[in-house]
Amino acid sequence: MIDFHLHPSYSIDSGAPVENIIEAALDKNLQAICFTTHIDLNPKRDCLDNYIRCGGKLRRCCEETVEAYIEDVRASAERYSGRIEVLIGFELSYGTYFENRARDFISENKPDFVLGAIHCIDNIGITARDEAPGYFRSVGVGEAARAFVDATGKLAESGIFATIAHIDGIKKYGRAFYGESLDRELERLFPPVFTRMAELGIGIELNTASLRKGHPDIYPSKRLLELAGEAGVTVNSVGSDAHKPEEVGFRLEEAYRLLDETGIAIGEPLARYI
Ligand SMILES: [Zn+2]
Ligand SMILES: [Zn+2]
Repeated sequence: MIDFHLHPSYSIDSGAPVENIIEAALDKNLQAICFTTHIDLNPKRDCLDNYIRCGGKLRRCCEETVEAYIEDVRASAERYSGRIEVLIGFELSYGTYFENRARDFISENKPDFVLGAIHCIDNIGITARDEAPGYFRSVGVGEAARAFVDATGKLAESGIFATIAHIDGIKKYGRAFYGESLDRELERLFPPVFTRMAELGIGIELNTASLRKGHPDIYPSKRLLELAGEAGVTVNSVGSDAHKPEEVGFRLEEAYRLLDETGIAIGEPLARYI
């Protein structure tokens, strides 16, 4: 098994050193892992998100701090070579008006793997515990689902990302407000976006973090995964979205079981490890 969604302490919301995550992955007998430090280049949230933790301190995301992260993971990958494959990656937040920043960031840093993610609607952090309730209280389920699916469609059209993270990540906090009607809306709205993603060769990840938030299903739900598969979307990656060593490899067996149950096509990089 692989875990290609891991946040070491360079991520603003994690305190887990790179080495501790690798040790946890070894304990779980994982074949390969990829670190996916958060990169949020949204100029309208510059003071909130645009940080990397370096040497225990939160610092601005800049060439020097990104390089420190890359060098740390690269050195660790060499140290553990032959025992586990360790890759360098990022999870980039997406928004239309800063997509050039995201594009430039990737071409400058050349990671092994990148996840593109929708974390905000109207610059409000819908996957952030302190911001999400304000958004969900202010709009109905139809509007919220439409905004999230539209944002995902634009992420796909940008052509920057080959793999989209937590494709129904809006359910993280949205379900508490809308219940299962949110799922029905996503199932109604997502199919045309899935068709377009398949045309563009863009896939998704299976992400087990929702199970830690008390949801009964992973990202995406089984029904949404079936709809993605019917449209020709591939699953390119599997990840726990761990922010602590004990979360590494979290319930990945269930994600792999869904791959078997749905028979959805598998894309790169996951295909290399199956
Ligand atoms: Zn995310
Ligand atoms: Zn993440």
